[in-house]
Amino acid sequence: MPEQPADVRVGNFDEVPLGYDEQAAMREAGRCLQCKNPQCVAGCPVAVQIPEFIALVAEGKFSEAARKIRETNVFPAICGRVCPQETQCEELCVLGKRGEPVAIGRLERFVADYERAHGEVEQPEQAVPTGRKVVIVGSGPSGLACAADLARLGHSVTVLELFHKPGGVLRYGIPPFRLPREALDAEIDLVRNLGVEIRPNFVVGRTATVDELLEEYDVAFISMGAGLPRFLDLPGENLLGVASANEFLTRVNLMQAHRADYDTPVHCGQNVVVIGGGNVAMDAARTARRLGAENVTIVYRRSREEMPARAEETHHAEEEGVKFLLLATPIEFLGDDEQWLIGMRCQRMELGEPDESGRRRPVPIAGSEFDIACDTAISAIGSGPHPLLKATAPGLDVNERGYLVADPETGATHRAKVFAGGDIVTGAATVIEAMGAGRRAAQAIDEYMANTPPNHE
Ligand code: FAD
Ligand code: SF4
Repeated sequence: MPEQPADVRVGNFDEVPLGYDEQAAMREAGRCLQCKNPQCVAGCPVAVQIPEFIALVAEGKFSEAARKIRETNVFPAICGRVCPQETQCEELCVLGKRGEPVAIGRLERFVADYERAHGEVEQPEQAVPTGRKVVIVGSGPSGLACAADLARLGHSVTVLELFHKPGGVLRYGIPPFRLPREALDAEIDLVRNLGVEIRPNFVVGRTATVDELLEEYDVAFISMGAGLPRFLDLPGENLLGVASANEFLTRVNLMQAHRADYDTPVHCGQNVVVIGGGNVAMDAARTARRLGAENVTIVYRRSREEMPARAEETHHAEEEGVKFLLLATPIEFLGDDEQWLIGMRCQRMELGEPDESGRRRPVPIAGSEFDIACDTAISAIGSGPHPLLKATAPGLDVNERGYLVADPETGATHRAKVFAGGDIVTGAATVIEAMGAGRRAAQAIDEYMANTPPNHE
């Protein structure tokens, strides 16, 4: 797929891959073997009928192909861009055994963009209104997928979101150069067009508690994500110039700090270190380059092989001039008299035996400390669940890591009328897994309401 050249794209926030044209899409679709027992479908958490949509692409029926995907996935333009297809559908494609798998994600993106560009997006059919009311906490992919399915079943759905705009990580975490906002807004609008009300600036646990909401709604689905950043707990972490990736990305992606017509401040100097080796670290590093940082270095405690980031993200980061300092970890942030960050003390690591994640454990090498100069440090070492909702909703069980306990098949929690799904249950996962949990919960909520009386009888 053609891309913006690296030296051009570091000067803008526009999307990096430019997408297939019609001929390229039909050519790629023509490679699909139309397997009788398609392994690719088994790799998709929402069971998109992949061979069927690809057959339509091969025939040039692009909008029909997009509609086929929408039967099971409301967000093809989003998922075509951000899903890790290489470990899901494409990993299982039979063509991948001896060569390149079919580029399922790129085809998904192409048909969704085609449908939108040609004004051929159709509103899905909806059941007659049931009069039952569901409230959803959080407007990320899990909440919105659940909302769309419930609305199609005729239920009245309200989504409450603490930020001023919906989308969850799709909006505040994933930068526009990976997911353009036109695509995101258009797919969220489709959920709104089903009659789903999205109410922003509503903090469940503060604006109203779950118990207060259940006085009005029949069921609550909690899909509040796991957006609380983890910190390194190192000396100097409170210095000016040290931030979490979560805050850094939110300031830019949600609050438009990179735009001259917005007042949002964001600190990004010339020498930036990003700590971590996942997609969040890559997003932060690539964003820092676009904000004008000359030197951006990813500091990761294991080797390249153990890096959890998608190969494509690491490759794009490298093309954009991001450097990698591997097998090293920070042990202290160093500041000047005015409490501004001026450097980071690191220690070299070597790989030991595998840990519980199956990856080789990083072991510090004694006496290997060294300093690197930096004026900005962004930590991208993971995130966890926010304790607010649990603190204000008695009776909801959490596990030892603070995540809500819910049935993985139905999302049912131990409390009547309360379901949960997405990252708040599984911990940080993927967009499509969160959507899968939302869809399964919608099905279970529909069945639950069919067997329980309405709140207002
Ligand atoms: P979220 O997307 O976190 O949405 C939860 C929403 O709930 C948020 O909008 C939040 O503001 C809101 N909320 C929280 N508390 C409350 C409250 N008390 N009241 C009201 N609202 C509340 N996955 C991929 O598949 N591909 C990628 O490329 C990818 N890149 C990522 C990049 C970054 C920077 C990050 C952080 C994650 C990335 N992920 C990626 C992971 C993926 O985005 C998440 O797994 C997914 O968004 C989880 O969906 P969710 O709906 O469970 O939660
Ligand atoms: Fe086509 Fe690959 Fe799926 Fe077979 S496994 S149907 S070749 S995409």
